[in-house]
Amino acid sequence: MLTTIVLFYQNLRLADNRSLVFAVERGTVVPVYIFEDTKKITHKPGGASRWWLHESLKDLGSNLQRLGTDLILRRGDALAVIRDLINQTGATTVTWNRRYEPDLTVHDEKLKAALQKDGIEVYVHEGFLLFEPNSIRTGSGTPFKVFTPFSKSCFNAPAPSKPIPAPKQLQGIKGIATDSIDDWKLVPRAAKWPKGLATAWDVSEKAAWRRLHDFLDDAIDGYKENRDRPYMDGTSRLSPYLHFGQMSPHQIWHAVQNRAASGGKNAASIERYLLEVLWREFSWHLLHQFPALPEKPIVSSFEHFPWHDDPNALKAWQQGMTGYPIVDAGMRQLWQTGWMHNRVRMVVASFLIKHLLIDWREGEAWFWDTLVDADLGSNSASWQWVAGCVADAAPFFRIFNPMLQGKKFDPKGEYVKSYVPELARIDAEYIHEPWRAPVDKLRKANITLGSTYPAPIVDHDAARRRALTAYASLKAPNGAKMDAIDIFDQ
Ligand code: FAD
Repeated sequence: MLTTIVLFYQNLRLADNRSLVFAVERGTVVPVYIFEDTKKITHKPGGASRWWLHESLKDLGSNLQRLGTDLILRRGDALAVIRDLINQTGATTVTWNRRYEPDLTVHDEKLKAALQKDGIEVYVHEGFLLFEPNSIRTGSGTPFKVFTPFSKSCFNAPAPSKPIPAPKQLQGIKGIATDSIDDWKLVPRAAKWPKGLATAWDVSEKAAWRRLHDFLDDAIDGYKENRDRPYMDGTSRLSPYLHFGQMSPHQIWHAVQNRAASGGKNAASIERYLLEVLWREFSWHLLHQFPALPEKPIVSSFEHFPWHDDPNALKAWQQGMTGYPIVDAGMRQLWQTGWMHNRVRMVVASFLIKHLLIDWREGEAWFWDTLVDADLGSNSASWQWVAGCVADAAPFFRIFNPMLQGKKFDPKGEYVKSYVPELARIDAEYIHEPWRAPVDKLRKANITLGSTYPAPIVDHDAARRRALTAYASLKAPNGAKMDAIDIFDQ
């Protein structure tokens, strides 16, 4: 019987876990999670992610116990930890699921080479993405820079592999020393924050399935329209489960396709949902193509953008105190639940970048710390997209109007009211621009702007003009002025 060490990374599940099944089929399994908190790792998990990781590891540990073994938790250098475990268990093989973060890719290659030099067999499996980055290419063999042809190419490619079931039992080794998860102190100290996260989420493999089934039974039919309505539970909310791997994209892809095949589901909504899942793929493929995506704008002229250094405005944005209700509701939803609706993510990101002229990397960093689904591919690609510095982005001069966005996507102000209770009593007519409300209406609703709720920290029209002037000062990569500005304001 061979003994195999299985390293768990972003695949904290039993089902559709190729490295786990590979090890079970070979013999004895030593399941391990190594927390490497070293300088070698650039993008360490933020506060909300650490909370999710803590909960996930507890869930994975109890699921593995049900199969007959313990999850070994170790902190420190991966190679040193694995060598120690090899000595203790006599393992001859190490396996894991592939990671795609640029520095972790290098890290894992080095680890593989060092273990192979020790005479250990190493097997790396796929599972985090539906399509490997090099497998989706343009006709001329280059990676895609634009989403629509990328998604078409994915739909035309061989279908993603079918998920494999969880092992029914496994042969483990008892008595191997393990850290206690509580000693890792992953849960943020601010007492209120983890409480809010725990109220919003059930972190487990089972909960991910419940969420998917509920979504497929109900919300998916209206997804195409409702996905933009933040006051509804109209999206799947599977992003953190996907990031940590309580669920694989293959499981989602095939579950959705099976529902579609069994009939009675809205085909346009199904297609729209699969397209969104492909945005995640596209983001990771972009990161693979541009490893500096989290730090460097792809359109190089943005390197010289005249960003404003404005700590007070940044703080107001982070705390949901900008005086723009839809922005404040989004930022408070993020803080309270670790998640924000996609439409509102776009609005708040546009507001930071264009109304406040604050560098998109500040927003990216705040999201990184506060999102439970913080994901290097999706977060950096999305921030660059809103800033206008990736190939098929909304151009910089497309400036979201937060009042119009609010009226269009939260017409009765239900979303705003649920996160900005100060505005709960104002008429829907004024909820997205309370400064327009007559004094008696404000008084009746118990609102004093600048006291019970902030007055807008910037004037929309002035901010828009300032953003356009800043954009016009940029030089295109060939040294020419940027194109004439075609103003969108929506
Ligand atoms: P659904 O609408 O149910 O979509 C299903 C799945 O498709 C999602 O779980 C997600 O994996 C994927 N998906 C959907 N929309 C996108 C998108 N625009 N880009 C990439 N993948 C998408 N998503 C993250 O997972 N992590 C991030 O760190 C992240 N940061 C973002 C930052 C900004 C500024 C913006 C505008 C978007 C960001 N997104 C990020 C994308 C998107 O907002 C979330 O994936 C989505 O809101 C998750 O909710 P859901 O699971 O209900 O999505």
